Amino acid sequence: MHSHLDETTMAVEAPKKFNAPQTGRRLCLMGGLAALAGAAVVARLIPSAQSAPAQSSQPAQDPTVDIEEFSAAGKSQGIVHAPRVVKSDAEWRAQLPASSYRVARQEGTEAAFSGEYAEARADGIYRCICCGTALFDSKTKFDSGTGWPSFWQPISPHNVVKSTDFSYGMRREAISCRRCDAHLGHVFADGQKPTGLLYCMISVALHFVPRE
Ligand SMILES: [Zn+2]
Repeated sequence: MHSHLDETTMAVEAPKKFNAPQTGRRLCLMGGLAALAGAAVVARLIPSAQSAPAQSSQPAQDPTVDIEEFSAAGKSQGIVHAPRVVKSDAEWRAQLPASSYRVARQEGTEAAFSGEYAEARADGIYRCICCGTALFDSKTKFDSGTGWPSFWQPISPHNVVKSTDFSYGMRREAISCRRCDAHLGHVFADGQKPTGLLYCMISVALHFVPRE
């Protein structure tokens, strides 16, 4: 049952009970798992729901953003003033695999341990599935035990945005791509050295490029 959630599972009702812990790696669970009840995976997951939209208070957006660019070797190319990537919903649907569209554009999630990058150890750069912006370096990836690709810091503070997400009766800090606003996952305080943070990301929102 370790598979990406399909459209059917997206419409499940919210769980009847949800005791949201205030801390802990299990908060990495990002929703959509109520439909998996009964599966073995539930033993290590907290049920949540997909139907509640994440908070999205969108202020007027500057048409350009400052992004730090990185080479294929992961070397900084400096800050560039780049146009924000804005596309219609239809354009995103056409561009992305369905699972990526649901996560990145609709703030969805994927089942723990199901994602392609959850336990990946290859050397390289994780980029935004939507716009290609460099997001994480594999050198900061660690095994959090959560079942989602986990990093202790983004490749650049310029390239991600943190926003408060009150969905599912929890207060969490959501992480999105600075350039295209793709939902990427959440950040928690119980990570690893040296930052102590856990950037708990979703595989289908990322695109891994091996280091050259
Ligand atoms: Zn992006």
